[in-house]
Amino acid sequence: MSDRTPSQKKALLRSIKKVRSKAKPCPFCGSSPDISPWHGGGPYKTAVSCEGDVATSWCPTFPSCTAESPESAVERWNARAAPEESEEE
Ligand SMILES: [Zn+2]
Repeated sequence: MSDRTPSQKKALLRSIKKVRSKAKPCPFCGSSPDISPWHGGGPYKTAVSCEGDVATSWCPTFPSCTAESPESAVERWNARAAPEESEEE
């Protein structure tokens, strides 16, 4: 039913831990985003998303982005978190 393997997930969780501190706060509510493995019907991907501080206030926008690797997911998130920094590639 599922092709996920424990070792695959373990490795992903380890690299998520590494990039977690690199993710910028949510541009809409200032909360730290959630970074988690995301199994989108294929190999594992990584999702960076924000729901806000669920105890006090929900994020008004619920932004999220996904990518093949934690590094590129955070890169994508950070590009959204800082729209004033234009990419020059
Ligand atoms: Zn937010």
